[in-house]
Amino acid sequence: MSLVIVGSVAFDTIETPWERREKIVGGSCTYCSLAASYFTRPKIVAVIGEDFPKATINLFKKRSIDLKGLKIIPGGKTFHWQGRYGHDPNQRETIRTDLNVFENFRPEIPASYKKADILFLANIDPDLQETIFLQVEKPKLTAMDTIGLWINSKPEVLLRVLKQVDIFFGNDEEIRMITGERNLIKAGRRILGLGPKLVILKKGEHGALAFGRDFIFSMMANPTEDVIDPTGAGDSFAGGFLGYLDKVGGFSQREIRRAAVYGSVMASFTIEDFGIDRYKTLQPSEVQARYEFFKKLVSF
Ligand code: AMP
Repeated sequence: MSLVIVGSVAFDTIETPWERREKIVGGSCTYCSLAASYFTRPKIVAVIGEDFPKATINLFKKRSIDLKGLKIIPGGKTFHWQGRYGHDPNQRETIRTDLNVFENFRPEIPASYKKADILFLANIDPDLQETIFLQVEKPKLTAMDTIGLWINSKPEVLLRVLKQVDIFFGNDEEIRMITGERNLIKAGRRILGLGPKLVILKKGEHGALAFGRDFIFSMMANPTEDVIDPTGAGDSFAGGFLGYLDKVGGFSQREIRRAAVYGSVMASFTIEDFGIDRYKTLQPSEVQARYEFFKKLVSF
């Protein structure tokens, strides 16, 4: 099968109560594709400026990520996001967003991506997400992610995109914002009424819930003692989840449950270091070992 991921490749400036890192590589597409690359060969669609480090491009290549859809704008500056975390890693504040090359970006799906089996619209402007549906030939599975910024600023187009996807990835705050419902179970069910067949409700260090029309699956997060940088946990969850589904080529309830565990596994690696640093050394054997650990964690 094949997985196409559309999203941001970025520079992030991250502040935690303990450390600050200036303009390190991040972005929704970056985290998602790196995580997915442990299961399949993801194809990415994104834009960067000439200032983007060659070393990261080489890391993408080493992980067999297809870069035909990665546009490099000559003389352009890469998208930049700045965020601050408090002592609770589940709470973050956006300090600054510089769109830079994203300002005039219109995603174009290369011909070799058009027959994608799985399409993931990672967090970008929903106006851009909407343009993708017309460029692909009926994927078997479509999924999306978003953030509060778009829920507040572009609710109409966001709801139109939501209506067309099979899976919605959202955290508790985003799902409450979309539905206006405090209770998360009711809020998850409301999202199912807006189009998707499955809602993945991410609850940070408290794990995630998968809501289908006729099932709920709950899984805990890895009991990580030192969360170094929570950025990208959601995107790598989606990458592990969709990468696994692409690898096995099936969407049964059993595979959805396993995919959710692989999503948690990949998110747990991401937060162990700043930015994408953990992916510079992460071995497939470590991914499998943590999956086995998760199995033990929930068996009784
Ligand atoms: P996550 O922690 O999984 O929710 O995603 C964090 C990533 O989202 C960061 O690496 C940012 O570069 C990226 N990001 C933040 N704001 C935006 C935005 N407005 N559009 C696209 N990507 C963004």
